[in-house]
Amino acid sequence: MAENTAKIVYRFGQGVYLNITNRCPNLCVFCIKTKWHMDFHGNNLNLENKEPTAQEVLSALAAELPKAPFKEIVFCGYGESTMRLPVLLEVGRTLKQWQAEGKYSAFKIRLNTNGLGNLINRRNIVPELKSAVDILNISLNAENETLWRKLLRPSNGYENGFSSVLEFIKLCVQAGFDRVTVSCVEKTGADPKAVRTLAEQCGAIFYEREYLDEK
Ligand code: SF4
Repeated sequence: MAENTAKIVYRFGQGVYLNITNRCPNLCVFCIKTKWHMDFHGNNLNLENKEPTAQEVLSALAAELPKAPFKEIVFCGYGESTMRLPVLLEVGRTLKQWQAEGKYSAFKIRLNTNGLGNLINRRNIVPELKSAVDILNISLNAENETLWRKLLRPSNGYENGFSSVLEFIKLCVQAGFDRVTVSCVEKTGADPKAVRTLAEQCGAIFYEREYLDEK
């Protein structure tokens, strides 16, 4: 029988991806984690509430990284990594050390996020993130709060998250990360041009993401 243990570290393209939580305050209409049954290109990402410790993530990385070249290490999920900020910071800061020591050939550390980290952690986490990641990819996905709520279906307490995400984007740009990009998934009813305008007004780079359908 094929092994189907949940992956906390997996490869995709030239990246090594980290799955530190499946939790997320949103339930986006376009989220692939349910559509794809917690599978991502043959990787089972269903942690079944057994979220890894920072040490478990670092041990898995130490085993995986020597196997093949990579250009990025990405906090991604299936889930919102800032739900586990202490783990994200401990792993990211250790990776920064590995970068400084030249332990592996040059790589960047990226966080893919829904931009709700400040609301989740009830403080401005951007200065802490600066010590742990190089690049931010922030999903905005709507040009106004009404549409944001309709498409992202935030849970209780996060209904007003749209303005918090915009503020988070601005803080990240001001903090001087290597790159801050803001994305909008295509074909959802959002206006990518209007989302681009918002992203650029915040000082970020915009990109439109492909709508991923049922497998
Ligand atoms: S924010 Fe990301 S992980 Fe959360 S529901 Fe939306 S697409 Fe899925």
